[in-house]
Amino acid sequence: MTYDRLVCANCAAPVSQGRCPVCRANRERLQQEGPFAGLNPMALIALLVVLVAALALVAQHTA
Ligand SMILES: [Zn+2]
Repeated sequence: MTYDRLVCANCAAPVSQGRCPVCRANRERLQQEGPFAGLNPMALIALLVVLVAALALVAQHTA
């Protein structure tokens, strides 16, 4: 999804120009959802695996 033609509701300028905080927030959000869209779920799964491993380690030590 491209945000080049997206117009800000706050300042009515193209979001890609980042003229106001709303523009910049939208731009960052859209950029995160762009090329790195598949990264976030993977990072979440990796984090979950690390968390489970840490919990298992703690359980071993306390048992
Ligand atoms: Zn704006």
